[in-house]
Amino acid sequence: MKTRILKTTGDDRAGSIRTAVKLLAEGEVVAFPTETVYGLGADAFNRKAIRAIYKVKGRPSDNPLIVHIGSLSQVHPLAATIPIRFWVLAEAFMPGPLTVVLRRSPALPRYLNPGLPSVAVRFPRHPVARALINEAGFPLVAPSANLSGRPSPTRAVHVLEDLDGTIHAILDGGRCRVGLESTVIDLTGRRPTVLRPGVITVEQLEKVLRTKVGLARQTAKKPRSPGLKYRHYSPRAELILLEGKKPEIRKALKEMSGALKGKKKIGVLALAGYTRPSERLDFFSLGTTGVEGAARKLFEGLRELDRRKVDVILCPAFEEEKVGTAVMNRLRKAATRRIRV
Ligand code: AMP
Ligand code: MG
Repeated sequence: MKTRILKTTGDDRAGSIRTAVKLLAEGEVVAFPTETVYGLGADAFNRKAIRAIYKVKGRPSDNPLIVHIGSLSQVHPLAATIPIRFWVLAEAFMPGPLTVVLRRSPALPRYLNPGLPSVAVRFPRHPVARALINEAGFPLVAPSANLSGRPSPTRAVHVLEDLDGTIHAILDGGRCRVGLESTVIDLTGRRPTVLRPGVITVEQLEKVLRTKVGLARQTAKKPRSPGLKYRHYSPRAELILLEGKKPEIRKALKEMSGALKGKKKIGVLALAGYTRPSERLDFFSLGTTGVEGAARKLFEGLRELDRRKVDVILCPAFEEEKVGTAVMNRLRKAATRRIRV
């Protein structure tokens, strides 16, 4: 199968979206841009299309899919009841990088997240995503358009890296503005709970909901040492997280590059302030705008350092507050080791 890249700028947009809608209507999967990361879209009400998503990604079958809608009215047939808190969140954050878990409608087909009493709903902001869903006329399930376990794609070429020859088309919408997957909040319990942190923070959610919001524990109970089972968002290189104060981390970067010299090719993924701790290190800058900018470039950096064929990626940890909570959530899952310096 030849994977086509469909342009979405200028005169090309309408035709590209028409091509993508035709494929989706035939039960095929199509990658498309959202403001968070690229999604692998399929008709949420087509059993064959859903099966194709799991196959193409190599995704574990118990990992549920988020249903993407093109307007708020599309939420009604998905959920059994829609709590007032959903509308409060919608007013503040939709369309945008927020996914809300609701009790699922009994009318939803069984093959969509079998066995789950809930449904996760997102209304993306990206104009190409919205045009695609609205022209299709049906909601799309859309996990990130990467091979399962790899860093999420934030550019069309990243999708091609993972899925070239296994999907028909990629709608190219340039770089994703947010760069991290959506915040997932669960409204099915007594207390709203964030299941996956994102750029919409717990603090922002609490302010809008005027109530305490929980944050589900993110770390696996078992140590991750035995193997790769719990790795996610992972580069091929070994990823080592360095935790500590900036001067100590700079010192550690120098020392480690000396110790590993000649044996391994070392990459560094860090804010621009760490630039050139040593000439020997292959540096990918996460920018000059703090953790928000780092969120945008994180997955791109992991992929780029893989492309440069480094053996080890050293990455200074971020403070776990606000957007730093989301960045560290991804980094912890991607990392092979953490070192306190
Ligand atoms: P992604 O692979 O980026 O599409 O992310 C999907 C994530 O959404 C999953 O890993 C879950 O954390 C979350 N999710 C999807 N559906 C549900 C659901 N019904 N209940 C709880 N979490 C969900
Ligand atoms: Mg994913």
